[in-house]
Amino acid sequence: MKRREFVKKSFIITAGLNAVYCGTKKKDKIKVILLGFDGVNWPTLDPLIEKGKLPFLKKLKEESAWAYFKTFKPAKSNVVWTSIASGKTMLKHGIVDFVYLKKNGLKVPYSKSDRREPLIWQILDEHKKRSAVLNWWCSHPPDKINGVMASDFLRRMATSKPEIFHKFVNAVHPVTYYKKFKELALLNNDYLKIVKKTGLPDFDGLYKKNYPGKDISKVPVIKSYKAYARHDAYIEEVSRHLLKNEDVDFFATYFRFPDVIQHFITLFLDQEYKENLKKHLINETLTREMNDEAVLKISDLLEPVYRYMENIIKDYMEIERKKNKNTYFFIMSDHGFSLFRGGYNHYGLPDNMKAPDGFLLINGPKVRQGMIKDAGVFDITPTILNLYDLPVGKNMDGRVLSEVFQLHRTKRFKTYKLKKEGEKERDKTYDEETLNDLKSIGYINK
Ligand SMILES: [Zn+2]
Repeated sequence: MKRREFVKKSFIITAGLNAVYCGTKKKDKIKVILLGFDGVNWPTLDPLIEKGKLPFLKKLKEESAWAYFKTFKPAKSNVVWTSIASGKTMLKHGIVDFVYLKKNGLKVPYSKSDRREPLIWQILDEHKKRSAVLNWWCSHPPDKINGVMASDFLRRMATSKPEIFHKFVNAVHPVTYYKKFKELALLNNDYLKIVKKTGLPDFDGLYKKNYPGKDISKVPVIKSYKAYARHDAYIEEVSRHLLKNEDVDFFATYFRFPDVIQHFITLFLDQEYKENLKKHLINETLTREMNDEAVLKISDLLEPVYRYMENIIKDYMEIERKKNKNTYFFIMSDHGFSLFRGGYNHYGLPDNMKAPDGFLLINGPKVRQGMIKDAGVFDITPTILNLYDLPVGKNMDGRVLSEVFQLHRTKRFKTYKLKKEGEKERDKTYDEETLNDLKSIGYINK
């Protein structure tokens, strides 16, 4: 063999071996886990971290990139979570409010059939990646992706009688997972057991104690607290089950309790303090100092709520780190809360007030720790696509948060289109239940 030929041949062999090596080195494959906690915000979380009440979150924040997560008005959860998963504004993705009126005057909730843009797991599906997605807003019926998906209808199984469980078969894709999810629903539906296990306060019992003689069934949001607690405890178990047992490239799950609890938390402030605060809010005489003091008091009340969140994050991270070393965690909310004339809330804000920031933490092997100066809800999908070294959507509205990662990535772009799956237009049972839910939290009127 001539020398030149030998060099050429051995090069080919080495290159071939490298290719095989890369292909089988499964442990090094990039994986992303997205954990959504509605309504979480730094002004109520940071004081507890500083007091040493949340040691795991303290350490996590120190070891992560984090940001005051920019969001937009109307800061409604279904609108914003769809922007997070699409990287696009509401005018592009089509979910612009909770409900709309049909020509015949009937109110219908915005749902998956109104969505006009593909979400991140559909884009990943196009690139042959496998996902597990749970409980996302406006996700019913679930997308038929490679992997597992349970829509935001599934959680209601935890508050339904077993006789009607069959209603939830179409909330699960593929349907083979239904049996296991049914088992988990039967194990996670007892309110008092859930309060004990999660450490969430028995706000239902506390309200009845603090407000004797008042009819809880007439008080917005808290009247449904027992159901919300059961829904999230169930989602927690389904998520844990999939995290442990599924081999996926992308995992996303969503929890609602930090938002719903903040919607009624001011009921638990000292009565006199609460009345005084209300007076100042209505008269618009609340000073900066008074605002900060009230936020600190709310933060104290939220301690067990954030501890539950901390336990979920810690446990999921431990499960994952045992299996894979190259996993990136994106932990976030969709908005925070503000004190204004309308109370302690995140929508219905006056024109001169911006949508309250949410929280964002990014953790993983090649993450630069510290504050990200500018990060918002539109940046998540482009950033995750770039992390997988995939093209970013051409008309996405966010940017790749490239300063966060010590990785070399070239930015490439592509147009991704939503492929309609040809299923029936709307699921009436889901629509009805969604309307009832939106009414009970006060997001829409009767
Ligand atoms: Zn809310």
